[in-house]
Amino acid sequence: MSEPKRYTITAALPYANGPLHIGHLAGAYIAADIYARYLRLQGKDVIFVCGSDEHGAAITIKAKKENTTPKEIVDKYHSIIKKSFEDFGISFDIYHRTTEPIHYETSQDFFRVLNDKNAFEIIESEQYFDEEAKQFLADRYIIGTCPKCANENAYGDQCEKCGSSLNPTDLINPRSTLTNSKPVLKSTKHWFLKLDEQQKGIEDWFDKTSKENNWKAHVVGQCKSWLNDGLRPRAMTRDLNWGIPVPPEIAGAEGKVLYVWLDAPIGYISATKQLFLEKANQQNIFSYNERSFENATKDDWKKYWQDDETQLIHFIGKDNIVFHCITFPAILKATEQYILPTNVPANEFMNLEGDKISTSRNWAVWLHEYLEDFPGREDELRYTLIANMPENRDSEFTWQDFQNRVNSELGNNLGNFVKRVSDLLHKFYDGVVPEFK
Ligand SMILES: [Zn+2]
Repeated sequence: MSEPKRYTITAALPYANGPLHIGHLAGAYIAADIYARYLRLQGKDVIFVCGSDEHGAAITIKAKKENTTPKEIVDKYHSIIKKSFEDFGISFDIYHRTTEPIHYETSQDFFRVLNDKNAFEIIESEQYFDEEAKQFLADRYIIGTCPKCANENAYGDQCEKCGSSLNPTDLINPRSTLTNSKPVLKSTKHWFLKLDEQQKGIEDWFDKTSKENNWKAHVVGQCKSWLNDGLRPRAMTRDLNWGIPVPPEIAGAEGKVLYVWLDAPIGYISATKQLFLEKANQQNIFSYNERSFENATKDDWKKYWQDDETQLIHFIGKDNIVFHCITFPAILKATEQYILPTNVPANEFMNLEGDKISTSRNWAVWLHEYLEDFPGREDELRYTLIANMPENRDSEFTWQDFQNRVNSELGNNLGNFVKRVSDLLHKFYDGVVPEFK
């Protein structure tokens, strides 16, 4: 493969309903950061983009619980998350957010293009509706008894006790989390992306690209099993009031918003647009790569998303593999304007002291809390996470291991090495590094 002209590196958009923990850093951000820094050191033309994912039912649920608005929830967590990334030296060129107007425009334009290209079909189905709250219920707004393990508090999309993936209609005795009433089935229509029609195109692209670029075995394995099952149409709209509205000129779409997969990953593109808007106006203060942005224009984002000589690499955790390797490429491909990813090097999970990291059980090392206990020790944590990164299998963080690595590998080994080199430098070269010959 010939040398690419430039690189677009993305890292999964963190969901703005909670702070970041070590599993996030180890899962996607440190790996992406290392790769971006490595390419920059070689003088390559690189952009590294990310931002907060700020829509969806989980945020409205959290807002309701805390008696506040979704906007206040995402404002709060966006700033906490952004600060953690800055503190830990994740060298994004821009850290954006999906509630910005430029992102609404970009996502709605995607919907229009897909609609014009006849990539959707409208399917009518029955979904649960809360008659007291007068609204359709997102999967997470419905709780009931799990048909597999009898857990009485299973969600409409998943039972957290036995891990089964569910449909809301699978639940026994469903109830609405909004009003605690029994929801009724009511007919609604949604715009489905015709993934079935894209099966062959996606399969051909996937086989060729994953082979040429040596994709990780666990990524290929997951995608293969999805492709072998056959792709099915997937709804790209939702009945919700917190999200990006379907473009208003589309008949019959009042009250509908774009599904997260026609919203969040497009955030990579709108972040790039915003980056070059700011570069063209010489406003952006984030950049680690000033060189390649000289004489930037606001249309330069297109080179990073629509030119075949650009390599697009998505860094994500393993929970997002299918969406980044199948759903999002299918969306990009259907527009006939965008490049598809060259690689999706997903990491597996990092566990904590023998147990899965869990936000709801508060079993995590939160980054902002780590810095309260170890101020100024960002690199020690980065090092430990890098040395133990879950690249091909789940790995484990323990405080004992952290202590050993910091004291012996950084303190003794690296510290000793630096001390000896520095002593020799003073003894033989008057403390000046000699020219390399
Ligand atoms: Zn269950």
